[in-house]
Amino acid sequence: MSFFTGIPVAPPIEVFHMNKLFMDETSPDKVNLTIGAYRTEEGKPWVLPVVREAERQIAADETLNHEYLPVLGLDAFCKAATGLLLGNDNKAIQEGRAIGVQCLSGTGSLRMGAEFLSRVMGLKTAYLSNPTWGNHKLVFKVAGFETIKEYTYWDPANRAVNIEQMIADLQQAPEKSVVVLHGCAHNPTGMDPTHDEWKRIAQVIKDRHLFTFFDIAYQGFASGDPDSDAWPIRYFLDQGLEMFVAQSFAKNFGLYNERVGNLTVVFNDKSAIAGFSSQMSLVVRANWSNPPAHGARVVAKVLGDPELRKSWHEAIKTMSDRIKQMRAALRSNLEALGTPGKWDHITKMIGLFSYTGLTPEQVDHLVKKHKVFLLSDGRINICGLNTKNVEYVAKAIDETVR
Ligand code: PMP
Repeated sequence: MSFFTGIPVAPPIEVFHMNKLFMDETSPDKVNLTIGAYRTEEGKPWVLPVVREAERQIAADETLNHEYLPVLGLDAFCKAATGLLLGNDNKAIQEGRAIGVQCLSGTGSLRMGAEFLSRVMGLKTAYLSNPTWGNHKLVFKVAGFETIKEYTYWDPANRAVNIEQMIADLQQAPEKSVVVLHGCAHNPTGMDPTHDEWKRIAQVIKDRHLFTFFDIAYQGFASGDPDSDAWPIRYFLDQGLEMFVAQSFAKNFGLYNERVGNLTVVFNDKSAIAGFSSQMSLVVRANWSNPPAHGARVVAKVLGDPELRKSWHEAIKTMSDRIKQMRAALRSNLEALGTPGKWDHITKMIGLFSYTGLTPEQVDHLVKKHKVFLLSDGRINICGLNTKNVEYVAKAIDETVR
């Protein structure tokens, strides 16, 4: 008998579970379209050359030490991250109304933001996209949100954003609800609102007195251009909306396991910063007290040095271009096979993921028969494709949907 006897076994985290099934699979044909990480044409993880270079410089810098960072993080990193997000010439930065808090990757930024809103501001209702990233609900729930609702996002028949229903759902949201929006490259659908649609979303948020919490885990990685990926966030700011933004540097710097993230907060009145920072310090203090330095130093160095920054731009272009090529290859293979259904959505979507429209039964068949591993909602990681396996995957999908 143990103190812990009887703990119910929780369901597995699907994405990691499927990844493990892939690892354990012995078939030489197996293809991994599960986990959201970049892979090269050879199917390998990629350390960005510019990250290696920054790491070399950091390792050689004997002025650096392992003292604690400030509770709210490495100042150079927070400023660089906030500048990347808003644009260094942004009014909010120039007027001192924006602040960055270094957090443990995108997840930690969401969690700190959610905890602040729930515990310090007393906000208890959050609206999440349906569908959304598998972790949003858990993060907001554990952070103290009592009512977690969904707004419609997806129109499965047309494989497009269901903007009318999304606006209608937000129109019903009680005042001061927190609305979580994907800044770019919506996960899992891969489909973002158009600029005109974003304008309507901003309007309803303003009219209904809702609070905007952007989650941007793919800035630069989606289109290849960090500025255009941040357009919705900058547009919302131009409309005078205050916001929290959770930024992740996992994908766009390939720093997955370094847990580098930033919570950017923009106020309409800079006098709010003193109260915010002092209360946020307590929220962070109760969680991890001080953030880790290595990844933050890398990002700060790269974004702060014009030469390194240029190399980073080249690297994100390389990654986003390869994704676009693989989208085109999958679509053209499916179309060449005459696979039933329409496949143009694959090239319309952006970022790492595509929502294929495959049903859970079809996914099960793909996994069991063809050893093509993907999530049960039909989401695939496009990076798992390469010129050697894309035809195999297309044939497997073809056989599955017929
Ligand atoms: N938000 C979304 C929408 C994501 O897809 C991810 C990564 N899968 C994250 C946040 C955060 O990931 P991380 O904590 O690794 O930065």
